[in-house]
Amino acid sequence: MDLGIRGKTALVTGASKGIGRAVAEALAGEGARVFLVARSAERLQELAKALREKGAEADYLATDLAREDAAERIQKALRGFGEAELFLGNTGGPPPGAAKDLPPKAWSRAFDELFLPMVRLTQALLPGMEEKGFGRIVFVTSIAVKEPVENLALSNGIRAGLTGYLKTLSRELAPLGITANAVAPGYTATERVEALLAHQAEREGVPLEEVRRRLAETIPMRRLGRPEEVAAAAVFLMGVPAGYVTGQTFVVDGGYLRGLF
Ligand code: NAD
Repeated sequence: MDLGIRGKTALVTGASKGIGRAVAEALAGEGARVFLVARSAERLQELAKALREKGAEADYLATDLAREDAAERIQKALRGFGEAELFLGNTGGPPPGAAKDLPPKAWSRAFDELFLPMVRLTQALLPGMEEKGFGRIVFVTSIAVKEPVENLALSNGIRAGLTGYLKTLSRELAPLGITANAVAPGYTATERVEALLAHQAEREGVPLEEVRRRLAETIPMRRLGRPEEVAAAAVFLMGVPAGYVTGQTFVVDGGYLRGLF
């Protein structure tokens, strides 16, 4: 299938590792021009170089997305690269914690890190998309938006809110040729998840393989997902053929969730 995104410009945030990185690589593979954002300049530089070596156009900006001026700085940098018609809104996951314990400060921090950057960047990119009559917005959320995960109250709460924002946005943007969707990963083998599993193994005094095996047993496919598998869904949603899909959450979880929707 030709996704029709060759030569289109993509902004990918949280691009230095994991799912964001896999999306950047997949978009570059489809011929999109990719602008990468995360906090680590070193990793972004290395990724941009690797993408260029494969023939893609790529550039980057290192910034903390939680900064109030991050969207402004990204937009300024994009002026020299090209206006983005494709936006992968992704950032790091919030810390764990129980709903009954987390202090209000933790909630406002998670809101600043996970929610506001998506709003600011969407609003910064919209005029350009509107002018072109084409735009694709995809947020990376989590299976938590369908089924809250124990001890991840921040993720459960903030991402449900983000999904409400996205759904509202999708209906406002539909007449303009702009779609807004989410991909919701289940357990995906990224550095972050590997580190969490290693931490659990150490805490319980069992081998890492044992912890990974136990988790895999809870997933019908009996394995963790690969970042490229989540990326494939995101990139499909960014393609021209997905133009009639909007306001949806595309779950990529190896069959983990039991619900009908
Ligand atoms: P990851 O930690 O491997 O990568 C996160 C990326 O975001 C990195 O590039 C990191 O540098 C960047 N980032 C984090 N905070 C940032 C900030 N304040 N400013 C700029 N960049 C920042 O994470 P991942 O496993 O690829 O997950 C991506 C998203 O998907 C996260 O929000 C995560 O919670 C969610 N998710 C992941 C899984 C999973 O199993 N991996 C499951 C459900 C949801």
